[in-house]
Amino acid sequence: MRAEEKKEAIRTYYRTLADAWGLQHWWPAQSPFEVIVGTYLTQNTAWTNVERALANLRAARQLSLAGMRRTPLAKLERLIRPAGYFRQKAGRLKTFVAFLDRRYNGSLSGMFSQPTPKLREELLRLNGVGPETADSILLYAGNHPVFVVDAYTRRILHRHGILPENTEYNQIRELFEDALARLSNQAFATSPSMIENGMQENDFDAGPRGAVHPPSRMSTAQRSNLAQVYNEMHGLIVGVGKNYCRKSQARCDNCPLQKFLPESRH
Ligand code: SF4
Repeated sequence: MRAEEKKEAIRTYYRTLADAWGLQHWWPAQSPFEVIVGTYLTQNTAWTNVERALANLRAARQLSLAGMRRTPLAKLERLIRPAGYFRQKAGRLKTFVAFLDRRYNGSLSGMFSQPTPKLREELLRLNGVGPETADSILLYAGNHPVFVVDAYTRRILHRHGILPENTEYNQIRELFEDALARLSNQAFATSPSMIENGMQENDFDAGPRGAVHPPSRMSTAQRSNLAQVYNEMHGLIVGVGKNYCRKSQARCDNCPLQKFLPESRH
């Protein structure tokens, strides 16, 4: 497949999924700091476990920079235990807060006002921050226009014959960023049908609609069209991965992307 064909395929997947499922309302959080905590906690665990850890932090009034700064490490470990790897994750969260205090005087807005490539490099130097976590922080906490690549993205591209599964992270990220940049100038990126299809808080028994969350302060925050398109596309891909494109078994029959599966893979 030529580069331009790959990009057109990605744009087509976006349109198809967005029309089918509507706005995905990522990330479910009330503040940028809550997003950041969630990006660390969600490593190697299911989101339901993250929610339990976040609920503990909230109940203990520790889900803030000030709260995390003053919480002793042992207590933080106890609070986030439901998310697994709690010692490692507590240490990493403390490392992030120390970095923010040292480098940006404790100011998240100061940190997020940095140019994207510079901040990405700084985040990647922190213990426990790989490309997916760094880009999740940039996009979902800071509204920087970067695309987040995860295992679902790789699997779908591989199964559709677009890229090998072991393609380097930045190569996939740049492919999506280039492909979707063209959409950010077009009205359908958040078209009325998308908004109409977007799930409301009381619609959660309506069947698979991607990986949709209820609207939250962070999901409805102001951001550029480009950041919005990247935001939606990652959520839509997670929806495909969770509901259909499982690691052990692809449930292609009801998947919205089935019509794009190469003949040889039917
Ligand atoms: S479930 Fe099947 S149709 Fe859907 S993305 Fe995966 S391989 Fe493609």
